[in-house]
Amino acid sequence: MDMLKVSAVRAFADNYIWLIHSPRDAKKVVAVDPGDAHPVEQEIARKGLDLAGILITHRHADHVGGVAALARDRGIPVFGPAADNVPTAVQPLREGDTAAFDALGLRFDVLDVPGHTLGHIAYVGHGSLFCGDTLFSAGCGRLFEGTPEQMTRSLAKLASLPDDTQVYCGHEYTISNLAFALAVEPHNEQSVAYLEECRARRTRGEATVPSTMRRERNVNPFLRCDRQSVKQAAEAKAGRRLQNHVEVFAVIRQWKDGFTG
Ligand code: ZN
Ligand code: FE
Repeated sequence: MDMLKVSAVRAFADNYIWLIHSPRDAKKVVAVDPGDAHPVEQEIARKGLDLAGILITHRHADHVGGVAALARDRGIPVFGPAADNVPTAVQPLREGDTAAFDALGLRFDVLDVPGHTLGHIAYVGHGSLFCGDTLFSAGCGRLFEGTPEQMTRSLAKLASLPDDTQVYCGHEYTISNLAFALAVEPHNEQSVAYLEECRARRTRGEATVPSTMRRERNVNPFLRCDRQSVKQAAEAKAGRRLQNHVEVFAVIRQWKDGFTG
């Protein structure tokens, strides 16, 4: 399958709004999580694009703040989570549903990924994953609403996608996430090498995302809670034995919440 063409629009301090280009007509795009309309309108005008639809992963303002303004005069479909109280009218989706833009040749399957918010969803299609604030490169979203158990299950769903899946997350957090990943697994050579690579990219002003699922399984401590190295680090941090990978996840998620590098 041909790789999707996706471009990044920066918003706020570290958000990415993804523009997915139609494989039939590269001028037509679907925006993912447009938290701010302004940079999207600028990009559309600058490149002569045509905004044809919107996908929303969860209700936080930095992901939905631009939806109303972008959709107002365009009459475009807006898909979003059924269970996340998104403040703008959306076509509600839950796991098993499909967000289809037939005229554009784009279809995405929906996964429920509760944890960051309870209604958070992710979109999977064309070899790509749009996962909002659930999975980041080398990290995962904070548990604002869900339990460690829910987030562990959500991340496991994402981690079961094929190795080559392109991972489009909602924020540029990779370097600070890797600092934490290396605190958990100081001897993870892949994380060491990836940090070097990401620093070089950021120095050039480039995004570190998309990542791939292969890479995430190798460097992301939150996908590695069943590994001895991660379990031992979590047990040392907690000062007690941990019984299973959900307990390991809970300890490292809390550790990360207070981690300053
Ligand atoms: Zn969020
Ligand atoms: Fe966010």
